[in-house]
Amino acid sequence: MTQPTGGRFTGKAALVTGAASGIGRATALAFAREGAAVTVADIAADANDTTARMIRDRAGRALAVTCDVTSDTSVRAALDAAIGEFGRIDIAFNNAGVEQPVHPLTDITQAEWDRVLGINLKGVFTCMKHQIPLMLDQGGGAIVNTSSGAGVKGFKGQAAYAAAKHGVIGLTKSAALDYADTGIRINAICPGIIDTQMMDRFTGGTDQGRAGVIAQEPIGRMGTPEEIASAVLWLCSDTAAFTIGHALVIDGGQTT
Ligand code: NAD
Repeated sequence: MTQPTGGRFTGKAALVTGAASGIGRATALAFAREGAAVTVADIAADANDTTARMIRDRAGRALAVTCDVTSDTSVRAALDAAIGEFGRIDIAFNNAGVEQPVHPLTDITQAEWDRVLGINLKGVFTCMKHQIPLMLDQGGGAIVNTSSGAGVKGFKGQAAYAAAKHGVIGLTKSAALDYADTGIRINAICPGIIDTQMMDRFTGGTDQGRAGVIAQEPIGRMGTPEEIASAVLWLCSDTAAFTIGHALVIDGGQTT
């Protein structure tokens, strides 16, 4: 098989965090399908390797790097590996994240707060801190950070998660302004209820649990990881050239 040609991202190099599963994996596959060379980065090494293998099996170019977004040195090493393999980074999708148990604020432990904020918010900061200088050297790039419906409204029992995801939007908008005149575009996505392993853990994977969250969705179903991927690809494409500092809600109407 030959490498996919003629896609929107042919000749581009992308990096996706949280690529071992769910939204990250679907987006890595979508970038590769449209011609990008993709570095997949995740703390879950085996599943991350599987994402890279899935891309190669479809004749795409992929590098798997085990990476913990809470570690500055790990993020730096992942980017060094990506540059070593593909020579550049045009696109970064900072998507790694974790859920929090559902309980009220006073039940959130310091450790839980640090973990949720450390991965979901500081992880995005750390990734951008290392990605932006590389993109400045190249004269531009596109970054998309994963927020959530919990980034635009509060959710009962989700104070730490919502604080992190609101933070991702503030971080995205401010960073977008810092670099708007440099050719680097920074945006965020806010997915609704998406059918992934995270959502399975959240609902317990039961019919009753799934029905409970689907009841929050005016569209009457969960979204698919591929539906989020298509929004990320648009934000990273040339047709979104005038879109900067936007938090794109893709949620079946959940937060409308
Ligand atoms: P998922 O659990 O399927 O995937 C998350 C990935 O992040 C996993 O592969 C996990 O190993 C990785 N990860 C966790 N901690 C990491 C770390 N420290 N370093 C590197 N990788 C790490 O979940 P998903 O549903 O695909 O979620 C992806 C993103 O979308 C998350 O940021 C999540 O908060 C967000 N989100 C999900 C939903 C949803 O309904 N599924 C809704 C809104 C936002």
